[in-house]
Amino acid sequence: HELFLPERRNSKGFDLAHRPTLAMIDAARDPFRTATWKAAPLVACEAPVGAEEPVVNPADPSDVVGHVTWASPETVAAAAQAAQPWDAPPEVRAEALTRAADLYEANFGELFAILHREAGKSLLDAVAEIREAVDFLRYYAARAEGAPAVGLFACISPWNFPLAIFTGQMTAALAAGNAVLAKPAEQTPLLAHRAAQLLHQAGVPETALQLLPGAGDVGAALTSNPQVGGVAFTGSTDTAQIIHKSIAENLAPGTPFIAETGGLNAMIVDSTALPEQAVKAILESSFQSAGQRCSALRCLYVQEDIVESFTEMLTGAMDALSPGAPWDLSTDLGPVIDAEAKAGITDYIEAARKDGRVVHQIDVPQTGHFVPPTLIRVNGIEAMEREIFGPVLHIATFKADQLDRVIDTINATGYGLTFGLQTRIDDRVQHVSERIEAGNVYVNRNQIGAIVGSQPFGGEGLSGTGPKAGGPLYLDRFRQHAAPSSGG
Ligand code: GLU
Repeated sequence: HELFLPERRNSKGFDLAHRPTLAMIDAARDPFRTATWKAAPLVACEAPVGAEEPVVNPADPSDVVGHVTWASPETVAAAAQAAQPWDAPPEVRAEALTRAADLYEANFGELFAILHREAGKSLLDAVAEIREAVDFLRYYAARAEGAPAVGLFACISPWNFPLAIFTGQMTAALAAGNAVLAKPAEQTPLLAHRAAQLLHQAGVPETALQLLPGAGDVGAALTSNPQVGGVAFTGSTDTAQIIHKSIAENLAPGTPFIAETGGLNAMIVDSTALPEQAVKAILESSFQSAGQRCSALRCLYVQEDIVESFTEMLTGAMDALSPGAPWDLSTDLGPVIDAEAKAGITDYIEAARKDGRVVHQIDVPQTGHFVPPTLIRVNGIEAMEREIFGPVLHIATFKADQLDRVIDTINATGYGLTFGLQTRIDDRVQHVSERIEAGNVYVNRNQIGAIVGSQPFGGEGLSGTGPKAGGPLYLDRFRQHAAPSSGG
């Protein structure tokens, strides 16, 4: 398998150090500073819908970004009836999806505005998000082919990448010729609605892509509807286990289930690492997107010999972070997604403070759902019972002769998503990469922001089922496979 097809390129993005580019971005998003959007089920027939609710800005809950009309289990049933696999020739599907990529790029000002105001994404995060969505569209479009589709796919996506992962799942299913019932996260229906409109505008038939904004009851209706032939899910490991059970109980045997779930991701910094490089990588890995990435660094292991000076550098760099309103150009750390998330992370931090384990913390705005970036001491990753989905980094130490034991402890968590190593010893890179059980291993850089096509992304164990997103094998799971022949 080739990672890149010759005609495909990654999106170009924006140079945020270039003043005229920043002015151009500002001009493009300005008309949407106080705009409002509507989200509602997009279903290819008459269908009952649920209640309407406001959607607010997590950085400023008095800013109403729009309104959502929810789907209900009845909406799901009607949409499943109306769905029709996209049986256009593969080149027609590829053209429409490529056109959608162009439309995303053309509408970047509006999409940035919704990313800031509905999802709390800083400009840097918003740029990365649109680029990844566009890359998924082009990468999967280039792989559309004639092999038969599964039929009807349910795509259940998270709020932390409300455009990129929402788009990636759907595009894979659509490129393969399936019909899609897409359920975006409850927290980010406006972005999903706007993206679905752009896909329709690009030529994806309304019977092939239907949108069902909703809560858990909509997800449950999707994963138990016998017309559904496959499920793609990104979200928590707990929810993945519930879905897995529902599929086993309600859907046909062999139904493909593609899950990308949580992580307890570690980084090891040994005494030969370049401290400036390591600190930068740690800050990005732990605090970009306010730590709300399944790839984010959660537990940092620093070799004991250097921990004192290294911690000083790290906490100094934390002090230079600039939390604030996602729209502001100076902001590099936005809010967490909602009040519930804030309360859960805050309780966790306060428990650590009672134990005297908070090493460092920086101030954040008092209004809105901000959580202060916090460094917490732990003995090791085994002390962390669950993934804390926010700007919380744990720090542990190890002695020079304990490296293998640390790796075994990391492996023993059962998760295996991302892993980072900072060292200048070549043999160690080789040794550690072979011993660690993680889907994405990064050396001497940050451990987030996998690039579609060159860094297929996905984990093992409790972190996901594979195949990796943005990689050459992903689309195969959205196609029909010949039943295993007996006696062959
Ligand atoms: N693909 C993203 C990254 O590499 C993470 C996706 C997620 O958090 O679900 O950072």
